[in-house]
Amino acid sequence: MTSREVWDALLAGNERFATDNLATPHRDTSRRNEIISGQDPIAAVVACSDSRVPVELLFDAGLGDIFVIRTAGGCVDSAVSASVEYAVDVLGVPLVLFLSHEGCGAVGAAVKAVNNSEIPYGLTRVFVEKIAPSVIEAHSKGHTDPAEIEADHARIMAEHLEDRAPAVKARGVGVVGARYRLDTGRVETVYEHFGS
Ligand SMILES: [Zn+2]
Repeated sequence: MTSREVWDALLAGNERFATDNLATPHRDTSRRNEIISGQDPIAAVVACSDSRVPVELLFDAGLGDIFVIRTAGGCVDSAVSASVEYAVDVLGVPLVLFLSHEGCGAVGAAVKAVNNSEIPYGLTRVFVEKIAPSVIEAHSKGHTDPAEIEADHARIMAEHLEDRAPAVKARGVGVVGARYRLDTGRVETVYEHFGS
């Protein structure tokens, strides 16, 4: 599959999810047996750990379909970057997706820190440090609405993955940024660059 075909397939799965027409593919014993010898996922997804954003479920996908990397706020550190590189280089996924979402607490904490010019100590600091650049860039465009900032975060992180992960660039994989809406159940594309 090309990266564009993969994205179309994921969006089709999300449409089934949003409209309660689930196909629930690849979740039975035969699929489990089929992938014992190895995995061949169609995409790598970097997303938030938020329990309301279970990546496979909202794309109506199953076992062995998506290589998912989740941290609070979708923060990208060296382990996350290495995981993306592994999916691209070793597993050969044709598409990398960064998925933000409505009502993201980590993005909210970063917005609060930027607005108050106050970087918190403790556990939330690492999220704020990783997400504040997205907030600052969003503000520079006049975006202050949480939905706009979450969309900007997805676009900026998708571009970041495209620029900073050597394997992504070298292999010409597609990169997409999107935001998931809790209310509609739909994933909305905010950035797309389909590779060769
Ligand atoms: Zn979140």
